[in-house]
Amino acid sequence: MKLSLVVPCYNEAESVSLFQDAVIQAFDGCGYDYEIIFVDDGSKDATLYQLKKIHSAQRCPVKVISFSRNFGKESAIYAGMQHAEGDYVSLIDADLQQRPEIVRDMVQTLEDHPEYDVVAAYQDRRGEGKVLSFFKKSFYKIINHLSAVKLHPDASDFRTFRRGVAENLVALAEYHRFSKGIFAWVGYETCFIPYTACERVAGTTKWSFRKLFNYAVDGIIGFSTAPLRLATCLGGMTALAAVIYSIIVIWEKLEHGIAVPGYATIIVLTLILGAMQLICIGIIGEYVGRIFEQTKNRPIYIAKEILTYQDTK
Ligand code: UDP
Ligand code: MG
Repeated sequence: MKLSLVVPCYNEAESVSLFQDAVIQAFDGCGYDYEIIFVDDGSKDATLYQLKKIHSAQRCPVKVISFSRNFGKESAIYAGMQHAEGDYVSLIDADLQQRPEIVRDMVQTLEDHPEYDVVAAYQDRRGEGKVLSFFKKSFYKIINHLSAVKLHPDASDFRTFRRGVAENLVALAEYHRFSKGIFAWVGYETCFIPYTACERVAGTTKWSFRKLFNYAVDGIIGFSTAPLRLATCLGGMTALAAVIYSIIVIWEKLEHGIAVPGYATIIVLTLILGAMQLICIGIIGEYVGRIFEQTKNRPIYIAKEILTYQDTK
């Protein structure tokens, strides 16, 4: 039996070596083989240098995939899963916020419970501010309402699954990858376990509010066409209001002759209708943009260097 740990790394020069130490400690004497697949997501610091050092030191089986630029965590996870050889594949961050010991428990759960194919960890306590927490909660409410796939509100990418699941995740080669949705979409029996995220060992988080917002939009657009229906509903309601208002205007004209000057009405209506049209065009644009990206058929990532075990001198 073999486990593949897929580790996306972006500017994690100070963390990667500590991460390897923690993995070796956690899996020492576990009784099965494991490999670490580090994916350097176009880091601007010395991450790749550190990873090459780890690779040549050969303290445990390590593969290194290095991207030609920053493609994002989702692409890094995808590349790692493509190169995973294990019977179990685990996704874990490089910053040790997610402890490797938990992966050991996850593997044990999968070994003991053949009915489960995935063990996913969710954060039982979130250390983030009230505002961010409110936005995250609202996002999950919206997406679970709009989309056919249901997401666990606190589930993270921190999860371990069987090889078959990984193969199906890789087969979904969509360009805009929203992994929480993709996990839910492929299905499989999932066991959710709580965990508490530790402090980062080094470096800072790579997520800004803007990045999170874009990620949320990717999630909603990628897993639901409900916004398009919203545009249709808005259009329908506006058309109905227009018919009613036209009848009133015509009736007034027939009753009282020349209609009273309606400057304010015209301005307000023009603004409202203009805004509604722009919103609807924007929504359609989001979908058209994604169709455009997908039809270009560009790869999800470009690896400039891949170090496997054979490359070790
Ligand atoms: N990461 C990545 N590419 C990116 C951003 C992040 O590979 O563009 C990696 C990062 O190195 C880390 C993991 O994704 O291993 C999670 O990122 P981070 O710790 O910043 O997120 P947080 O834990 O704050 O949600
Ligand atoms: Mg982190």
